[in-house]
Amino acid sequence: MQQLSFKNRIASNYIITTALLIFVVFCVIYSVVRLTFYNDIDGDIALEVTTHLNEIKINKNDFHLVHEDEWKEREHNTVDVNPVFIAFYDKEGSVLEKSPNLKNEVLHFDPSAADNELYDTKLLKNKIRQIQVPIFSNNVSIGHIIIAMSLEGPTLVLNRLAQVLIITYPLILVLLFFIARFIAGRSIKPINAIINTSNNITRDNLTARIPLPQNKDELYTLSKTINNLLDRIENAIDREKQFTSDASHELRTPLTVLKGTLEVLVRKPRNTEEYLDKITFCITEIDRLNQLVDQLLLLARFENQKKSLSIENLYLNGTLLDVISRFSSTIENKNIQLRANFNEDYYVQTDNYLFSIIISNLLSNAIKYSAQDGVIVINIQRKNNKIECSIVDSGIGIAAEDLEKVFNPFFRSDANEHPQIKGTGLGLSIVKKLCLLLAIEIQFTSKVNNGTSVILSLDEAKLK
Ligand code: ADP
Repeated sequence: MQQLSFKNRIASNYIITTALLIFVVFCVIYSVVRLTFYNDIDGDIALEVTTHLNEIKINKNDFHLVHEDEWKEREHNTVDVNPVFIAFYDKEGSVLEKSPNLKNEVLHFDPSAADNELYDTKLLKNKIRQIQVPIFSNNVSIGHIIIAMSLEGPTLVLNRLAQVLIITYPLILVLLFFIARFIAGRSIKPINAIINTSNNITRDNLTARIPLPQNKDELYTLSKTINNLLDRIENAIDREKQFTSDASHELRTPLTVLKGTLEVLVRKPRNTEEYLDKITFCITEIDRLNQLVDQLLLLARFENQKKSLSIENLYLNGTLLDVISRFSSTIENKNIQLRANFNEDYYVQTDNYLFSIIISNLLSNAIKYSAQDGVIVINIQRKNNKIECSIVDSGIGIAAEDLEKVFNPFFRSDANEHPQIKGTGLGLSIVKKLCLLLAIEIQFTSKVNNGTSVILSLDEAKLK
């Protein structure tokens, strides 16, 4: 069974059940026909018994037919399709009288056999149905009447019927097997399409899709699900390719700038001021490179989900103040007014380290994209059983058409419009990935030249 193909397995299972069913039906047909024949014959014999018992006259120790000649005449001349054999026996078991159609034969009388019971026996090698009925005088058996009818016709019909059933049985099963196999083959055709398409799919050729079957059944759903899966895999691989090419481009750019600056510097001797200027520039580029590598490593790490989460009850006010304090010098340099509106102590359930990275990236952007003397407001509030933490700045804002893209790796909105603001385009990709990992809902709204607002929605900690 294991080696059979799927369609043969379906056909075989179907045939096993059908074979049992047909066998039962055939047995029922045979039994019903046999029973009908026997009922008919038994009825006829019973009728003959009654008729003949009425035709005998019983004396004290013996009996005789009332109209013997008439009876003989009748038995001789009646044209019967199924003749009735009749014989009378005295109490010693000798034949007294018998119907002329028996000619030289006698119906076998068995003194030990049960009276009034119908049974099958033979007369001249032919099957007959027979009954022996005792004749009583004053409750004493004085002889027997034996009546028999030929079973030849019914036996012939029953044998024929059995032959027909036995021959047609395997033929029907073989025919049904091939029909079932054909239908099963047609029904699982989409599976072959799935196998063929899957064989054609390689890492470099992910465009092939399974043709959808016409019937909207389980195989249609399976094909559609696999096609959706292929879509997702293709997108993921495209994204990965794009990421790799963007990453190598982003890494190469500062290296090219560094190389170019140093090459120009060594071409001829420079004064100290020029050296200082170029070296400071190179240090800034190396810092940028460093930051880029750090962020790429961070992204790669969460891509593989290697960092196992350590969810704990976190004092949100404290974590936010910690992150703010890390940016205090930048905030001071830009003379940004930062307002933290924490009305009460809030506790959330999350991973401290990863949540700090999210807040750092968001606050860093809020500061970076705010103008000198800008305002940043950090709010915490309870809403719909959640704790909402928002970081709102009044910076340059993001164009509506770019809002969707800011989470894509290396995407920088209108970077040429503000070349002085440095960035890698990876900060928000990291934020998005971490939010997904920590099941934190993030909402981003922004208006150009008006500012940006980010709302994080977290689960409140259940404190005892
Ligand atoms: P970057 O290193 O460029 O800041 P991010 O992934 O952090 O990279 O942000 C992607 C882009 O989204 C930024 O280049 C910027 O155009 C836009 N952006 C993010 N945060 C803000 C903000 N608070 N105000 C204005 N623009 C923002």
